[in-house]
Amino acid sequence: MSTKRIPIHRPIRAQIPLEALDLFREMKNVGCACPPINWKGRYWERQECPGCERWWALHSRLAQLLPGIRPWHWPVIQSPRARCPYPAGSNAAAQWRPNEAAQARWRELEAALKERELARRESISHAAAREQRGRRVPASACRDADVVQTGSIQNHYGV
Ligand SMILES: [Zn+2]
Repeated sequence: MSTKRIPIHRPIRAQIPLEALDLFREMKNVGCACPPINWKGRYWERQECPGCERWWALHSRLAQLLPGIRPWHWPVIQSPRARCPYPAGSNAAAQWRPNEAAQARWRELEAALKERELARRESISHAAAREQRGRRVPASACRDADVVQTGSIQNHYGV
């Protein structure tokens, strides 16, 4: 007898609304066109690029949708590839740590998105297989089918 292992994340993943997955997918595709931050200049006056503005707008919506998010969970997600944005040797750089909880949420969303896309692809390929089966006709019938089709085209044009 085999035991089926149930991933412990499943209950949490099941609580992720589909809209959150759509937001997450869009966030991953938002590009950033910000110039590198000039830490020696007036960096506090810098403007975010349209990509970053969009990202934070999506982030706000995502924060409302994900279950169990509290105001101090900020940002709610962080890429596992996030790097310290502060100049090396600065106090801020010394204190910067990856946001483990936000990265865990990112991975959770990533996994849920992958699961959903896999399920969607499977249902599409099943539908295609069903269609394929329905269309299968013996080779000998093909010629007759061609004749019928040609006849109908001729009729369509009134010839
Ligand atoms: Zn940007």
